[in-house]
Amino acid sequence: MKRFLLFTLLVASIFYSDARYDLSEFSLKNGLRVVCMKKTTSPIVSFLILYDCGSVHDAISKSGVAHYLEHMAFEFNHGKFSTFLESVGAETNAYTSLRSICFYEIVPGEHIETVFEHESQRMQAMDIDENVFLAEKGAILEERNMRYDSSPYGAAYEALTANGFNRSAGGISVIGWRSEIESLQPQDLQDFHSAWFAPNNATILIIGDIGDVSQMKSLAEKYFGGLEAKELQRKPEEANRPSCVKEITYASPKISLSTVGYIYHVPFVHKQDFRKSLALKLLLSVLNQPDSFIKKLLEHNWKKVGSITFSYLEGYFPYGIVEVGIGDSFTDDVADAEKILAGVIKKLLVVGIEKNDLDMVKKQKELAMAYKKDDIGEISQYIAQLLSSGYLLKDIQSIDETMQSITVAECNAVLREVFSPKPVIISRMIPKEYDSDL
Ligand SMILES: [Zn+2]
Repeated sequence: MKRFLLFTLLVASIFYSDARYDLSEFSLKNGLRVVCMKKTTSPIVSFLILYDCGSVHDAISKSGVAHYLEHMAFEFNHGKFSTFLESVGAETNAYTSLRSICFYEIVPGEHIETVFEHESQRMQAMDIDENVFLAEKGAILEERNMRYDSSPYGAAYEALTANGFNRSAGGISVIGWRSEIESLQPQDLQDFHSAWFAPNNATILIIGDIGDVSQMKSLAEKYFGGLEAKELQRKPEEANRPSCVKEITYASPKISLSTVGYIYHVPFVHKQDFRKSLALKLLLSVLNQPDSFIKKLLEHNWKKVGSITFSYLEGYFPYGIVEVGIGDSFTDDVADAEKILAGVIKKLLVVGIEKNDLDMVKKQKELAMAYKKDDIGEISQYIAQLLSSGYLLKDIQSIDETMQSITVAECNAVLREVFSPKPVIISRMIPKEYDSDL
């Protein structure tokens, strides 16, 4: 009996320690926040730096600056950092979003100090070579061309966010408007860098074989401790809830079939209502299951509507939004597509989801998390995304456990809270015939 109890306790403690992210944090006097997690499964370390600034901070008429700066940051210091990373076989990347710019490197543990050194230099100054700047402009315009200008759905999405939201609430595409990218100068990037790249506007996340946290603290002190905090010119956030339903129609000859999307405002702030936010994520995972639920609700309309996709975007602060869109519509009548979508939402509000559906999604998440926990790069990205969405460290630590404890009643309560009010934006994409005179 005793032995059995001991065994149970042992298993419970293994599960318990494994189910949590063992994160610790400290801050330097200049405001730099450092979050660490020791993981000794392989002798590598992931270093990720997250700047609390993104495309919503692009100056007026200078859209695309944050993203451009991210591109140029690989070239800083005459590419010395990139060359070093290549020489040690590091994995490296960067991204810009509405609210953050992120750089990360995964290196063999013994090279972590060099990463600290280069990242500190990148925070302090950007030397911008005119020729590299121009070459990169070409690359960015090509990226824009691929994602937006020659993609009708990309173009429609850009038009939708720009018309649907005010700029500080996310009504701007990360890449920027073509004419504005074209006119950007190196000084614009310098201005953005000096306004936002500061220790008090950054979080470093280090995961891996880091030895002792105190070693990370001394490295942080050595390379970042001497930098001064800056006074950040942060404007107050504007609420992203329009006062009336906005209807935006995008017509293009490149669109062959009509489609329609609804955007709902999430009426709670995820960092305050942690459980609700997780309930919403689980709910949407249930609704996105292929061959499930939504297919049943669609009944015979399934043939007209290939798929309905639900996504939760947390970056549209201070509240998130949920997008619901018909993926592949096979109807050329937009009113018909909209009727189908509205009908599904209405039915959904009546029936709600069932425990079986939720249990299946929870099992999938549990398995996905188990895989993720073995991959330092994946964990870093996951935690960075939660940090940049404003989640609290104590909530992140237990996120997987909390997710498993969410009930079907909580999911259905959130379903009604989010989907009962009218959508804030209705977007329609419709085919347009070519006008041969143009
Ligand atoms: Zn890019």
